[in-house]
Amino acid sequence: MTLSRREFLAFLGGTALLASGVQAASPPRGPFALAGTVYPGRGKPLPGHAVLVRDGRIEGVVPAGTVTDRPFFAPENGSILPGVINAHCHTLHSARERKERWLLNGVTSIGDAASPLPALDALLHSPPGVTATASACGPMLCPPGGYPLPVHSPEHGLTAASRKQGADAVKRLADQGVSCIKIAFEPGVLPKPWPLFDPATAAAICGAARRLGLGVRCHVEDFSGLGPALDAGVSVVEHVPHRWNDRGRIRPVLAPDGAPVPCYLSLLERMVRDGVALTPTLDVFTRTPWNGPVLFAPVRAFHSMGGRIALGNDFPYRRTEAGMPVREMRLLARAGLDDAAVLEAATTTAAEVCGFTDRGLIAPGMAADLLVVRGEPGPDTLEAPLHIIKDGVFIR
Ligand SMILES: [Zn+2]
Repeated sequence: MTLSRREFLAFLGGTALLASGVQAASPPRGPFALAGTVYPGRGKPLPGHAVLVRDGRIEGVVPAGTVTDRPFFAPENGSILPGVINAHCHTLHSARERKERWLLNGVTSIGDAASPLPALDALLHSPPGVTATASACGPMLCPPGGYPLPVHSPEHGLTAASRKQGADAVKRLADQGVSCIKIAFEPGVLPKPWPLFDPATAAAICGAARRLGLGVRCHVEDFSGLGPALDAGVSVVEHVPHRWNDRGRIRPVLAPDGAPVPCYLSLLERMVRDGVALTPTLDVFTRTPWNGPVLFAPVRAFHSMGGRIALGNDFPYRRTEAGMPVREMRLLARAGLDDAAVLEAATTTAAEVCGFTDRGLIAPGMAADLLVVRGEPGPDTLEAPLHIIKDGVFIR
């Protein structure tokens, strides 16, 4: 069955009522089918297919011509893709802020990459079909005096001075509902480096997180933090390491040929081997004096090795913007990712680094977080999605 334009608009009007506030919505209406070219998030596009949605979940993806049992929408020249996930941002904790600043622009989920403990309650309050779902890690675990304490307010860090303190902190955060753990290996740029975790404490934190099924996201801006972070067993490197403060001596991260120096390349290879993902956050760093090849060459090398890259822009630092992260998408493209790779970074891989197990992919059983754009998905078409569907509810 194909609805007339009038019937379709009536459907949108009805469901839009559900999304008008940030109270818990009624169960989404359905079932329905959305047809066009389906971009699952990872894997090849499927032209002429339909996504079947029921009770806020994806039931399946089938050839469009086989759908007979439900309302059927086929926007002209439409592409259907998973909702975009900004895997690395901060602030905008409340459900209302996440709705207004992220969801209404097509960002259906976010990864809060460290915020003070009191923000956890607000971040974990995500009524279905109403706001951008948040993954949260709470404050960043750090050694006494280590990053983020020299830069950010004390509540942004949670110090662990021993293996026991590290493992206990992970357990406490898990009890409070975090979806991943954030730690830091950041010596900074001053001649006297900020303290880094000792290997045993960092390994205890990663081991405790692993046992609880939580990924460990690690802040690493400086190359000297990368090896110790990988030794500890982190699962995601946050920010692309772009400088090298070797115990007070500044060394280049790029060789004369423009590629990362050999020891950097071998750590990138190790990340690929061990399945460690990278969230480069190029948007924020291209707004610093480091803007240039030191940011792009490592991402390009990692991508060409087959490394998993997630999209995040580190909002709100350095005047990065909320909304659809098109600038980060364009910068990833400048680092060598084609449209398909950018889409995967912004959906499937972003979900993985945030610890979302039921988002970021169009597949049976996943939450029906979907976008419809006219033409192929890319920064230009994503800037103004035709439709935004959250947990099966038409938001736009
Ligand atoms: Zn950040």
